[in-house]
Amino acid sequence: MKKLFYLSMIALISCACQHNTKDDFNYKADRFADMEILHYQVPGFEDLSLRQKELIYDLSQAALYGRDILYDQNCRYNLLVRHTLEAIYQYADIEKSGDDWDAFVVYLKRVWVSNGIHHHYATDKFTPGFSAEFFAQALAATPQQQLDLPTDELLVCLEPIIFNPEVAAKRVNQKEGEDLLLTSANNYYLNVSQKEAEKFYADMADPNDPQPISYGLNSRLVKKDGRLQEEVWKVGGMYSPAIEKIVYWLERAQTVAENPAQAATIAKLVEYYRSGDLRTFDQYNILWLQDTQSQVDFVNGFIENYGDPIGIKSSWESTVNFKNLAASHRTQVISENAQWFEDHAPIDPRFRKKEVKGVSAKVITVAMLGGDCYPTTPIGINLPNADWIRRDYGSKSVTIENITDAYSKAAIGSGYNEEFMWSKKEIALYNKYGSITDNLHTDLHECLGHASGQLLPGVDPNAMKSYQSTMEEARADLFGLYFLGDKKLVELGILPNDEAYKAEYYEYMMNGALTQLRRIELGNQIEEAHMRNRALVANWVLTYGGPKVAELRKRDGKTYMYIHDYKALRECFGQLLAEIQRCKSEGDYQAAQLLVETYAVNIDQELHKEILERYSKLDMTAYKGFVNPVFKPVYEGQKLVDVKIDYNEGYIEQHLRYSKQYATLPALQE
Ligand code: ZN
Repeated sequence: MKKLFYLSMIALISCACQHNTKDDFNYKADRFADMEILHYQVPGFEDLSLRQKELIYDLSQAALYGRDILYDQNCRYNLLVRHTLEAIYQYADIEKSGDDWDAFVVYLKRVWVSNGIHHHYATDKFTPGFSAEFFAQALAATPQQQLDLPTDELLVCLEPIIFNPEVAAKRVNQKEGEDLLLTSANNYYLNVSQKEAEKFYADMADPNDPQPISYGLNSRLVKKDGRLQEEVWKVGGMYSPAIEKIVYWLERAQTVAENPAQAATIAKLVEYYRSGDLRTFDQYNILWLQDTQSQVDFVNGFIENYGDPIGIKSSWESTVNFKNLAASHRTQVISENAQWFEDHAPIDPRFRKKEVKGVSAKVITVAMLGGDCYPTTPIGINLPNADWIRRDYGSKSVTIENITDAYSKAAIGSGYNEEFMWSKKEIALYNKYGSITDNLHTDLHECLGHASGQLLPGVDPNAMKSYQSTMEEARADLFGLYFLGDKKLVELGILPNDEAYKAEYYEYMMNGALTQLRRIELGNQIEEAHMRNRALVANWVLTYGGPKVAELRKRDGKTYMYIHDYKALRECFGQLLAEIQRCKSEGDYQAAQLLVETYAVNIDQELHKEILERYSKLDMTAYKGFVNPVFKPVYEGQKLVDVKIDYNEGYIEQHLRYSKQYATLPALQE
């Protein structure tokens, strides 16, 4: 729920906070379908102590060993598909050229991007550009010892999975009125209907527990012999071979932790992986969020529930990072003033937090991405997700600046601004302030937005049901937008003047109403939570504020966002924030449903077509992914003397290496 993805792709200037990044660094690694793969730099790694480097190395290993888990979570055939495609790619005795082969390679690269056969963002199954005949031939030409099943069995199993658009069509189906579990291809539930799952977890929940357990977070729910049961992801349970490796490297990391608090945090995580006990997971989260002293930090576990249409099961993910001490000044100032922002939020005072607890925020440099953070990654994270921990202990919020930096650098010269912004004025504004306001909006979203507000007593935290993520992201975005236009930020010295915020306002409205449609196929609706949230905000403001605030203008057959009145726009953001906070605080599902279904789902076909056409003429891809750096330990005898960082690994090389080195799970589990 608490993840922010990169939305603008168009920041053209680099922020003053970036240090020692090399200008001649080659960001571009690969490009195919709707993806561009970038390298990211890890500035400052060389300056860390040897112990910190070793800690990062150990945590990185733990981050990479969870890779197979995510494939299996996304769909139970994913590992078999990946193994088979990789075997063909490496060992098939066929002519490795021509249209079918090229399309096959693109398909394999897309499987790596998405950790499976469904688009990482849109979640629908992608269509192979090669023929079933080619696939059968290639498979027949691959040595049997490289395959998981006899060739004929493999073919029977995989042909429908890869080629039949009706089979496993959607990883996460959000369509209202359908059984969201039976129509979703993820592997979180097996033979379980939505009603059965919802009842199973509703029965488990204790409405009087002030510290409710996140039941169901770390297990698959299956129906066997007519009985529902959970298969828990832990040592000795489901995914044990992968989790044992993660635990091994976490235990090594524990020995080189920066301080006793961090060692205790890692030990608690290990305890949770061994027991699968979600109470222990909560204890771990509290220790983790309270560790604000360590420079090196990580996320490792079953964290986010975007992949489950009913928001109970969490996908495995990891990042390893260290604090960017200079840039963290900005987020520190914000979090020190968290109570001021909460007290001035334009929401019903009953929904404000009386006391904002421990919002810690920092700017980080990510050193390794794993699981659901790889190869596509968020640019901001705020954890933990449990509402009661956030209420009683606060949360930890990060902005990942070396990733946004890579995005910005890769976008230079694309012509995107010129194509979509109304005039030179907006372009100049964005070039001048876009980067700083973009980063600042991420800070505000993560550090204050998600942490703000409270539910009225007795309101079910899951009352928003399938609209939960959209409403939560909209709330955090609006909180950030509203305060971005507040002179408080200029007073605090983190915005240069009271013009700068307009850059983000313009870009946000343009993206929400227009340019984000580039990411959706013609004919489809908006489904992903962050995209719904941005559409909701922009379209609601256009309707509610009317043309005196903002409007869509046509020129030469092209549609543009035009803002008349930035101050009034800010008021609109405040009003929508008040309404969305009210929905959440009161648990008003009907109102949330009306908002989302009215403003955030449907797309005007003509407009959609126009955006896609304009976008296709630019030299850009809709999505970006990343190649991780390679950490190489240097030994003198038995003694570790340094860890070197290497950026030269290619996209294909990296995935093939990961599939060998970090293979943990069998291709076909039950
Ligand atoms: Zn968020």
